[in-house]
Amino acid sequence: MLDVKVMDLESSDKGNEWDIAIVGGGPAGLGAAIYASRSMRKTVVFEKSVLGGQIATTDEVDNYPGIRAKGPEIAAMFEKHARDFGAEIIFAEVLSIKKVEDEFILETTEGKHRAKAVIWAAGAEPKKLGVPGEKEFTGRGVSYCAVCDGAFFKGKTVAVIGGGDSAFTEGLYLLNMVGKLYLIHRREQFRAQRYYVEQLKSNPKSEILTNKVVVEFVGDKFLKGLRLKDTKTGEESFLEVDGAFIYIGLRPVNDLIKDYVDLDERGFALVGEDTKTKTPGLFVAGDGRIKPLRQLVHALSDGATAAIMADEYIRHLESVKVG
Ligand code: NAP
Repeated sequence: MLDVKVMDLESSDKGNEWDIAIVGGGPAGLGAAIYASRSMRKTVVFEKSVLGGQIATTDEVDNYPGIRAKGPEIAAMFEKHARDFGAEIIFAEVLSIKKVEDEFILETTEGKHRAKAVIWAAGAEPKKLGVPGEKEFTGRGVSYCAVCDGAFFKGKTVAVIGGGDSAFTEGLYLLNMVGKLYLIHRREQFRAQRYYVEQLKSNPKSEILTNKVVVEFVGDKFLKGLRLKDTKTGEESFLEVDGAFIYIGLRPVNDLIKDYVDLDERGFALVGEDTKTKTPGLFVAGDGRIKPLRQLVHALSDGATAAIMADEYIRHLESVKVG
Protein backbone atom coordinates (compact mmCIF):
# COMPACT_ATOMS: atom_id res chain seq x y z
CA MET A 1 0.00 0.00 0.00
CA LEU A 2 1.16 3.49 -0.73
CA ASP A 3 1.85 5.92 2.02
CA VAL A 4 -0.12 8.83 0.61
CA LYS A 5 -0.26 11.97 2.73
CA VAL A 6 -3.45 13.99 2.26
CA MET A 7 -2.58 17.67 2.26
CA ASP A 8 -4.90 20.54 2.83
CA LEU A 9 -3.90 22.80 -0.03
CA GLU A 10 -4.72 26.47 0.27
CA SER A 11 -6.04 27.80 -3.02
CA SER A 12 -3.17 30.33 -3.14
CA ASP A 13 -0.74 27.42 -2.82
CA LYS A 14 -2.18 25.34 -5.63
CA GLY A 15 0.36 26.32 -8.25
CA ASN A 16 -0.19 25.62 -11.89
CA GLU A 17 -2.69 22.99 -12.88
CA TRP A 18 -2.07 20.62 -15.75
CA ASP A 19 -3.74 17.60 -17.23
CA ILE A 20 -0.43 15.88 -17.92
CA ALA A 21 2.94 16.77 -16.40
CA ILE A 22 5.94 15.20 -18.06
CA VAL A 23 9.21 15.01 -16.15
CA GLY A 24 12.19 15.01 -18.50
CA GLY A 25 12.62 16.66 -21.89
CA GLY A 26 14.45 13.85 -23.69
CA PRO A 27 12.97 11.96 -26.64
CA ALA A 28 10.52 10.03 -24.43
CA GLY A 29 9.33 13.24 -22.72
CA LEU A 30 9.07 15.29 -25.91
CA GLY A 31 7.43 12.38 -27.75
CA ALA A 32 4.89 12.18 -24.92
CA ALA A 33 4.39 15.96 -25.07
CA ILE A 34 3.54 15.81 -28.79
CA TYR A 35 0.97 13.06 -28.26
CA ALA A 36 -0.47 14.55 -25.05
CA SER A 37 -0.92 18.07 -26.40
CA ARG A 38 -2.25 16.70 -29.68
CA SER A 39 -4.89 14.90 -27.56
CA MET A 40 -5.91 18.40 -26.38
CA ARG A 41 -4.55 17.84 -22.89
CA LYS A 42 -3.00 20.77 -21.06
CA THR A 43 0.58 19.54 -21.05
CA VAL A 44 3.79 20.66 -19.40
CA VAL A 45 7.32 19.30 -19.70
CA PHE A 46 9.82 19.91 -16.89
CA GLU A 47 13.44 19.83 -17.97
CA LYS A 48 16.26 20.60 -15.56
CA SER A 49 19.05 21.11 -18.11
CA VAL A 50 19.02 20.56 -21.87
CA LEU A 51 16.10 19.48 -24.04
CA GLY A 52 16.77 16.34 -26.04
CA GLY A 53 18.40 14.30 -23.27
CA GLN A 54 21.11 11.97 -24.54
CA ILE A 55 20.26 12.88 -28.14
CA ALA A 56 21.31 16.47 -27.46
CA THR A 57 24.82 15.24 -26.71
CA THR A 58 25.00 12.67 -29.52
CA ASP A 59 26.79 13.66 -32.70
CA GLU A 60 25.23 11.69 -35.52
CA VAL A 61 21.96 9.77 -35.27
CA ASP A 62 21.90 7.20 -38.04
CA ASN A 63 19.42 4.59 -36.83
CA TYR A 64 16.18 6.56 -36.68
CA PRO A 65 14.18 5.59 -39.77
CA GLY A 66 13.91 8.34 -42.35
CA ILE A 67 16.10 10.85 -40.57
CA ARG A 68 19.88 11.03 -40.44
CA ALA A 69 20.96 14.16 -38.65
CA LYS A 70 22.98 15.59 -35.80
CA GLY A 71 21.51 14.81 -32.37
CA PRO A 72 20.98 18.47 -31.40
CA GLU A 73 19.13 19.11 -34.70
CA ILE A 74 16.75 16.24 -33.96
CA ALA A 75 16.24 17.50 -30.41
CA ALA A 76 15.34 20.96 -31.76
CA MET A 77 12.82 19.40 -34.17
CA PHE A 78 11.18 17.47 -31.31
CA GLU A 79 10.98 20.62 -29.19
CA LYS A 80 9.41 22.66 -32.00
CA HIS A 81 6.92 19.92 -32.73
CA ALA A 82 5.85 19.71 -29.07
CA ARG A 83 5.55 23.50 -28.74
CA ASP A 84 3.61 23.74 -32.04
CA PHE A 85 0.93 21.48 -30.55
CA GLY A 86 0.74 23.68 -27.45
CA ALA A 87 2.90 21.84 -24.93
CA GLU A 88 4.48 24.15 -22.41
CA ILE A 89 8.14 23.62 -21.50
CA ILE A 90 9.40 24.78 -18.12
CA PHE A 91 13.11 24.68 -17.34
CA ALA A 92 12.98 23.53 -13.74
CA GLU A 93 14.11 20.63 -11.62
CA VAL A 94 11.40 18.50 -10.04
CA LEU A 95 12.30 18.17 -6.36
CA SER A 96 9.48 15.94 -5.15
CA ILE A 97 6.34 14.26 -6.35
CA LYS A 98 3.35 13.19 -4.27
CA LYS A 99 0.02 11.70 -5.11
CA VAL A 100 -2.78 13.29 -3.12
CA GLU A 101 -6.13 11.65 -3.74
CA ASP A 102 -6.64 11.94 -7.51
CA GLU A 103 -3.88 14.37 -8.34
CA PHE A 104 -0.14 14.68 -8.31
CA ILE A 105 1.70 17.53 -6.60
CA LEU A 106 5.11 18.35 -8.02
CA GLU A 107 7.45 20.63 -6.11
CA THR A 108 9.86 22.17 -8.58
CA THR A 109 12.53 24.85 -8.57
CA GLU A 110 9.87 26.95 -10.37
CA GLY A 111 7.17 26.45 -7.76
CA LYS A 112 4.42 23.97 -7.07
CA HIS A 113 2.50 22.31 -9.89
CA ARG A 114 -0.51 20.00 -9.91
CA ALA A 115 -1.37 17.42 -12.55
CA LYS A 116 -3.99 14.76 -13.12
CA ALA A 117 -1.40 12.42 -14.60
CA VAL A 118 2.38 12.29 -14.61
CA ILE A 119 4.67 10.78 -17.22
CA TRP A 120 8.05 10.13 -15.67
CA ALA A 121 10.60 10.36 -18.50
CA ALA A 122 13.67 11.39 -16.51
CA GLY A 123 15.74 8.71 -18.22
CA ALA A 124 19.15 7.71 -17.01
CA GLU A 125 22.48 9.37 -16.33
CA PRO A 126 26.05 8.20 -17.04
CA LYS A 127 27.50 5.73 -14.55
CA LYS A 128 30.80 6.60 -12.90
CA LEU A 129 33.75 4.22 -12.63
CA GLY A 130 34.34 5.21 -9.01
CA VAL A 131 38.13 4.92 -9.13
CA PRO A 132 40.75 7.34 -7.73
CA GLY A 133 41.25 10.49 -9.80
CA GLU A 134 37.95 10.21 -11.70
CA LYS A 135 36.22 12.94 -9.71
CA GLU A 136 39.34 15.07 -9.40
CA PHE A 137 40.01 15.15 -13.17
CA THR A 138 36.40 15.50 -14.33
CA GLY A 139 36.42 18.64 -16.47
CA ARG A 140 40.24 18.48 -16.57
CA GLY A 141 40.61 15.59 -18.96
CA VAL A 142 37.88 13.21 -17.81
CA SER A 143 34.51 13.60 -19.53
CA TYR A 144 31.19 11.83 -19.99
CA CYS A 145 30.24 13.73 -23.15
CA ALA A 146 32.27 13.55 -26.37
CA VAL A 147 30.06 16.03 -28.20
CA CYS A 148 30.49 18.60 -25.40
CA ASP A 149 34.23 18.19 -24.82
CA GLY A 150 35.70 16.44 -27.88
CA ALA A 151 36.82 19.69 -29.50
CA PHE A 152 39.31 20.26 -26.64
CA PHE A 153 41.25 17.21 -27.80
CA LYS A 154 41.93 18.09 -31.43
CA GLY A 155 45.00 16.12 -32.58
CA LYS A 156 45.51 14.69 -29.07
CA THR A 157 45.38 11.20 -27.59
CA VAL A 158 42.25 10.07 -25.81
CA ALA A 159 40.82 6.92 -24.29
CA VAL A 160 37.21 5.81 -24.41
CA ILE A 161 36.21 3.43 -21.66
CA GLY A 162 33.37 0.94 -22.25
CA GLY A 163 32.25 -1.68 -24.74
CA GLY A 164 28.65 -0.69 -25.49
CA ASP A 165 27.01 1.34 -28.27
CA SER A 166 27.80 4.63 -26.52
CA ALA A 167 31.53 3.91 -26.25
CA PHE A 168 31.72 3.02 -29.94
CA THR A 169 29.45 5.73 -31.39
CA GLU A 170 31.12 8.43 -29.32
CA GLY A 171 34.54 6.95 -30.11
CA LEU A 172 33.70 7.22 -33.82
CA TYR A 173 32.74 10.83 -33.29
CA LEU A 174 36.00 11.56 -31.45
CA LEU A 175 38.03 9.99 -34.27
CA ASN A 176 37.00 12.95 -36.43
CA MET A 177 39.20 15.21 -34.33
CA VAL A 178 41.68 13.34 -32.14
CA GLY A 179 45.12 12.12 -33.22
CA LYS A 180 44.85 8.73 -31.49
CA LEU A 181 42.05 6.91 -29.73
CA TYR A 182 42.27 3.91 -27.42
CA LEU A 183 39.06 2.05 -26.67
CA ILE A 184 39.48 0.26 -23.36
CA HIS A 185 37.15 -2.56 -22.46
CA ARG A 186 37.14 -4.97 -19.54
CA ARG A 187 36.57 -8.13 -21.62
CA GLU A 188 36.86 -9.39 -25.20
CA GLN A 189 33.22 -9.35 -26.26
CA PHE A 190 31.40 -6.10 -26.93
CA ARG A 191 27.79 -5.21 -26.27
CA ALA A 192 27.96 -2.69 -29.09
CA GLN A 193 26.41 -3.45 -32.47
CA ARG A 194 28.92 -5.05 -34.84
CA TYR A 195 28.34 -2.27 -37.33
CA TYR A 196 29.91 0.23 -34.92
CA VAL A 197 32.69 -2.14 -33.81
CA GLU A 198 33.79 -2.74 -37.40
CA GLN A 199 33.70 0.96 -38.23
CA LEU A 200 35.89 1.86 -35.28
CA LYS A 201 38.29 -1.04 -35.83
CA SER A 202 38.84 -0.01 -39.45
CA ASN A 203 39.99 3.49 -38.48
CA PRO A 204 43.82 3.61 -38.45
CA LYS A 205 43.79 6.13 -35.57
CA SER A 206 42.01 3.68 -33.23
CA GLU A 207 43.37 0.89 -31.07
CA ILE A 208 41.24 -1.43 -28.97
CA LEU A 209 42.62 -2.64 -25.65
CA THR A 210 40.61 -5.54 -24.24
CA ASN A 211 40.71 -7.19 -20.81
CA LYS A 212 41.77 -3.91 -19.22
CA VAL A 213 40.22 -1.80 -16.50
CA VAL A 214 41.17 1.68 -15.37
CA VAL A 215 42.29 1.60 -11.75
CA GLU A 216 43.38 5.24 -11.50
CA PHE A 217 43.27 8.51 -13.41
CA VAL A 218 46.66 10.16 -13.04
CA GLY A 219 47.80 13.74 -13.64
CA ASP A 220 48.73 17.04 -12.06
CA LYS A 221 46.59 20.00 -13.06
CA PHE A 222 45.23 18.01 -16.01
CA LEU A 223 44.92 14.32 -16.76
CA LYS A 224 48.18 12.78 -17.97
CA GLY A 225 47.32 9.12 -18.18
CA LEU A 226 45.57 6.03 -16.92
CA ARG A 227 46.79 3.28 -14.68
CA LEU A 228 45.39 0.09 -16.19
CA LYS A 229 45.05 -3.41 -14.87
CA ASP A 230 44.83 -6.51 -17.04
CA THR A 231 41.72 -8.47 -15.96
CA LYS A 232 43.32 -11.79 -16.89
CA THR A 233 46.92 -11.46 -15.68
CA GLY A 234 46.49 -8.75 -13.02
CA GLU A 235 49.45 -6.93 -14.58
CA GLU A 236 49.41 -3.14 -14.28
CA SER A 237 50.49 -0.66 -16.96
CA PHE A 238 50.41 3.08 -17.61
CA LEU A 239 48.80 4.61 -20.69
CA GLU A 240 49.57 8.21 -21.54
CA VAL A 241 46.45 10.09 -22.65
CA ASP A 242 45.28 13.70 -22.68
CA GLY A 243 41.60 12.85 -22.25
CA ALA A 244 39.36 10.02 -21.14
CA PHE A 245 35.70 9.59 -22.06
CA ILE A 246 33.73 7.25 -19.84
CA TYR A 247 30.82 5.34 -21.37
CA ILE A 248 30.12 2.44 -19.05
CA GLY A 249 26.34 2.51 -19.07
CA LEU A 250 23.51 4.34 -17.47
CA ARG A 251 21.96 4.71 -14.03
CA PRO A 252 18.20 5.27 -14.06
CA VAL A 253 16.97 8.50 -12.46
CA ASN A 254 14.05 7.05 -10.53
CA ASP A 255 14.78 8.13 -6.95
CA LEU A 256 11.83 10.52 -6.66
CA ILE A 257 9.27 7.93 -7.75
CA LYS A 258 10.58 4.96 -5.79
CA ASP A 259 7.60 4.94 -3.38
CA TYR A 260 5.13 4.82 -6.25
CA VAL A 261 6.81 2.39 -8.65
CA ASP A 262 8.40 -1.04 -8.31
CA LEU A 263 12.08 -0.95 -9.26
CA ASP A 264 14.47 -3.77 -10.14
CA GLU A 265 17.80 -4.26 -8.36
CA ARG A 266 19.51 -1.74 -10.68
CA GLY A 267 16.82 0.88 -10.11
CA PHE A 268 14.95 0.53 -13.43
CA ALA A 269 11.15 0.81 -13.19
CA LEU A 270 9.43 -2.56 -13.50
CA VAL A 271 7.01 -1.24 -16.06
CA GLY A 272 5.90 -2.93 -19.26
CA GLU A 273 5.07 -1.76 -22.77
CA ASP A 274 1.96 0.06 -21.56
CA THR A 275 4.18 2.27 -19.32
CA LYS A 276 1.68 1.89 -16.43
CA THR A 277 3.00 1.75 -12.87
CA LYS A 278 1.33 0.38 -9.74
CA THR A 279 0.17 3.96 -9.06
CA PRO A 280 -2.82 4.92 -11.22
CA GLY A 281 -2.03 8.04 -13.23
CA LEU A 282 1.75 7.62 -13.08
CA PHE A 283 3.54 6.31 -16.17
CA VAL A 284 7.22 5.64 -16.84
CA ALA A 285 8.54 6.13 -20.38
CA GLY A 286 12.01 5.86 -21.87
CA ASP A 287 15.35 4.67 -20.55
CA GLY A 288 14.22 4.59 -16.92
CA ARG A 289 12.09 1.48 -17.39
CA ILE A 290 13.10 -2.12 -17.99
CA LYS A 291 13.44 -2.89 -21.70
CA PRO A 292 15.66 -4.99 -23.94
CA LEU A 293 16.89 -2.06 -26.03
CA ARG A 294 17.41 1.63 -25.31
CA GLN A 295 17.22 3.49 -28.60
CA LEU A 296 15.70 6.73 -29.81
CA VAL A 297 12.94 4.92 -31.65
CA HIS A 298 11.91 3.10 -28.44
CA ALA A 299 12.00 6.23 -26.31
CA LEU A 300 9.64 7.97 -28.72
CA SER A 301 7.37 4.97 -28.86
CA ASP A 302 7.26 4.86 -25.05
CA GLY A 303 6.42 8.56 -24.91
CA ALA A 304 3.56 8.11 -27.36
CA THR A 305 2.18 5.13 -25.44
CA ALA A 306 2.44 6.90 -22.09
CA ALA A 307 0.60 9.96 -23.42
CA ILE A 308 -2.24 7.85 -24.80
CA MET A 309 -2.43 5.87 -21.51
CA ALA A 310 -2.44 9.13 -19.52
CA ASP A 311 -5.22 10.53 -21.70
CA GLU A 312 -7.23 7.34 -21.22
CA TYR A 313 -6.66 7.52 -17.43
CA ILE A 314 -7.87 11.13 -17.28
CA ARG A 315 -10.95 10.28 -19.36
CA HIS A 316 -11.70 7.55 -16.83
CA LEU A 317 -11.30 10.02 -13.93
CA GLU A 318 -13.62 12.47 -15.67
CA SER A 319 -16.26 9.84 -16.35
CA VAL A 320 -16.19 8.72 -12.70
CA LYS A 321 -16.68 12.35 -11.59
CA VAL A 322 -19.57 12.91 -14.01
CA GLY A 323 -21.15 9.54 -13.15
P1 NAP B 1 25.76 -0.42 -22.06
O1 NAP B 1 25.18 -0.96 -23.30
O2 NAP B 1 25.19 -0.82 -20.75
O3 NAP B 1 27.32 -0.75 -22.09
C1 NAP B 1 28.12 -0.41 -21.02
C2 NAP B 1 29.53 -0.94 -21.27
O4 NAP B 1 30.37 -0.51 -20.23
C3 NAP B 1 29.60 -2.44 -21.33
O5 NAP B 1 30.50 -2.83 -22.34
C4 NAP B 1 30.14 -2.82 -19.95
O6 NAP B 1 30.95 -3.96 -19.95
C5 NAP B 1 31.01 -1.63 -19.63
N1 NAP B 1 31.07 -1.40 -18.19
C6 NAP B 1 30.06 -1.30 -17.30
N2 NAP B 1 30.52 -1.07 -16.07
C7 NAP B 1 31.87 -1.02 -16.17
C8 NAP B 1 32.91 -0.83 -15.25
N3 NAP B 1 32.66 -0.61 -13.95
N4 NAP B 1 34.18 -0.84 -15.70
C9 NAP B 1 34.44 -1.04 -17.01
N5 NAP B 1 33.49 -1.24 -17.94
C10 NAP B 1 32.23 -1.23 -17.52
O7 NAP B 1 25.71 1.20 -22.02
P2 NAP B 1 25.74 2.29 -23.20
O8 NAP B 1 26.75 1.96 -24.21
O9 NAP B 1 25.82 3.60 -22.48
O10 NAP B 1 24.33 2.18 -23.87
C11 NAP B 1 23.14 2.38 -23.09
C12 NAP B 1 21.93 2.04 -23.95
O11 NAP B 1 21.79 3.01 -25.00
C13 NAP B 1 22.09 0.68 -24.64
O12 NAP B 1 20.84 0.06 -24.66
C14 NAP B 1 22.54 1.04 -26.05
O13 NAP B 1 22.18 0.07 -27.03
C15 NAP B 1 21.82 2.36 -26.27
N6 NAP B 1 22.55 3.20 -27.24
C16 NAP B 1 22.27 3.01 -28.57
C17 NAP B 1 22.96 3.75 -29.53
C18 NAP B 1 22.65 3.56 -30.98
O14 NAP B 1 21.90 2.65 -31.31
N7 NAP B 1 23.17 4.38 -31.85
C19 NAP B 1 23.95 4.65 -29.14
C20 NAP B 1 24.24 4.79 -27.79
C21 NAP B 1 23.54 4.03 -26.84
P3 NAP B 1 30.32 -5.44 -20.02
O15 NAP B 1 29.87 -5.61 -21.43
O16 NAP B 1 31.48 -6.31 -19.64
O17 NAP B 1 29.22 -5.48 -19.02
